[in-house]
Amino acid sequence: MAIRIGIPRALAYYSFYPQWKTFFEELGAEIVLSPPTNKHIVNQGIRDTVTDACIPIKVYHGHVASLVDKVDYIFVPRLVSIDGEATFCPKFLGLPDMIRSSIKGIPPLLSPRLDIRDGRFAPVKAWIRVAKALGAGYQQALRAYRKSVKFRQYYDELLTSGMLPNEATALLDRLTVSLRTERKRLSEANTIASAKASSIPTLESQNHIRLAVVGYPYMIYDEFVNCGLLDTLKRLGASIFTPEMVSAKDRRAQAKKQPKYLFWYYSNQVVRSVYHFIQEEMVDGLIHLTAFACGPDAMVDRLLELDCKKNGRIPYLSLCLDEHTGRAGIITRLEAFTDMLVRKRGGKQ
Ligand code: SF4
Repeated sequence: MAIRIGIPRALAYYSFYPQWKTFFEELGAEIVLSPPTNKHIVNQGIRDTVTDACIPIKVYHGHVASLVDKVDYIFVPRLVSIDGEATFCPKFLGLPDMIRSSIKGIPPLLSPRLDIRDGRFAPVKAWIRVAKALGAGYQQALRAYRKSVKFRQYYDELLTSGMLPNEATALLDRLTVSLRTERKRLSEANTIASAKASSIPTLESQNHIRLAVVGYPYMIYDEFVNCGLLDTLKRLGASIFTPEMVSAKDRRAQAKKQPKYLFWYYSNQVVRSVYHFIQEEMVDGLIHLTAFACGPDAMVDRLLELDCKKNGRIPYLSLCLDEHTGRAGIITRLEAFTDMLVRKRGGKQ
């Protein structure tokens, strides 16, 4: 029977899941993904964490708890730095320790320390150690690692083209199944290219507004935590742009505009993507999703607000979310914000 590895559908899941899944499946493991966030998961997470933790950390604990009886291992990486320039927020760095001390009766954790600052080959070595702990040989581990990196690249390309993480993940799953079951050489590159072409957002009417929805991926794409914000905005007729839709190259080009780099990886991604949206005049307004009790966001939120003011007074809405956020309150604020943007453009209500 295959080893079952649990992956919590939270935090960095939205950035790396296809890579992680590919790696473990190439080693012959079965992936058990926790369900989409729901009330039970949030309540469980609140019970298991310290009260002053941010909502994404509480949610993460709930996802881990939901996997406890179902798997042989749970994958909780210690993400430190993947670009050598910034680190993940301190809560990511201490995540495996927090989980071990807070959740009783958990199966062993797989917690590679991923820090490119330890040397160019440090991440691959960390992944190979994980594979060996699961009984794989060196060559098999290396093959799995290489394939997983390729899938991360595909995933990033799909996100950059305008797909949401769940759409890109579903497409890559279909591609993997086709390669396995049809036993024919599908052109991975062609599949990715045609999916990209069909996902580019288009403008439809004068009332159509373009919105940047920025923040950390686990705030933007977790529909339960943000009360279905993306769907609500689409219903209100908005085209949506998120930080993941800005390519790494475009983000790098914006880095020089930062008076000082931020310490945290995701915060830099958010700020640089906003600079890109502003420079390219891509959006009519900007919504920043922040988590109550998030230390990095105390600074990022203020920075973005000032940048929006400085660059042509771009309308800015900051939404702070926690476990008490109500759907009705979010919808009312989004309706008011989009109405104001339509009026500003001179469109009809
Ligand atoms: S960056 Fe903020 S929201 Fe994300 S884990 Fe850290 S404190 Fe929580």
